[in-house]
Amino acid sequence: MALKFSIFNVFKIKFMDQKLSQEKILVTAALPYANGPIHLGHLAGAYLPADIYVRYQRQRGRDILFICGSDEHGVPITITADNEKVSPNVIIDRFHAINKESFDRFGMSFDIYSRTSLPIHHETALGFFKEFSDADLLVEKKSMQFYDNSRQMFLPDRYVEGTCPKCGNLSARSDECENCGSLYDPSELLNPVSKISGDKPELKETSHWFSRLENSRKELKNILMRWMRIMNGKTMFCSIAKVGFPPDFRIEQLPVISIGE
Ligand SMILES: [Zn+2]
Repeated sequence: MALKFSIFNVFKIKFMDQKLSQEKILVTAALPYANGPIHLGHLAGAYLPADIYVRYQRQRGRDILFICGSDEHGVPITITADNEKVSPNVIIDRFHAINKESFDRFGMSFDIYSRTSLPIHHETALGFFKEFSDADLLVEKKSMQFYDNSRQMFLPDRYVEGTCPKCGNLSARSDECENCGSLYDPSELLNPVSKISGDKPELKETSHWFSRLENSRKELKNILMRWMRIMNGKTMFCSIAKVGFPPDFRIEQLPVISIGE
């Protein structure tokens, strides 16, 4: 999805239940990745502020739900599993248990601490996808991406390293160079190496789905404006790093209080 929020701290949504005409508050904190243990910095930066806020609202008698859980998908997990020669389930089971116990011991008052690997989350994500697809909001496009033959997997950008075609930096990523700031096509990268296997990856055709934002600008803007009206005058803790909104949308209109990364 081009509409992308990167959430570092707490994301709070308020909405009105028309039938009950009672305000409900949903608080989520960033899902910790089940590829390593959480540390004090995570607790202090992301979970403690949310927990304080939730406890305060509970004491005020508000109808509030505080949810969190382990993020259990992604390439780093499969790499850890490969390195340890175990299945990814072993890794996610291990770190879900460790992190859940840490949260329990620190007294984080989640109402739900779930796992993204549970079938209900797969079904929900699939439901969103199908709904968007049925509404013709998605378009499939083919593109070329580096493929690691020995690991039999497509490589995300950060797992390919090579020589920058513009400045000669030896540790450039597949489509951008942090040294000179250039963006280029992966086919232009010189001497590409898979950071997973150390082998030379090959470019292979793959498909991705893209949202048709160009057809939805007006609708998106209306949704955002309605959301901002609902949020008007209320406090929201979130920080937004990347937003792919329509060009005439002004980010400063969002009622955002950033409390840092
Ligand atoms: Zn460069």
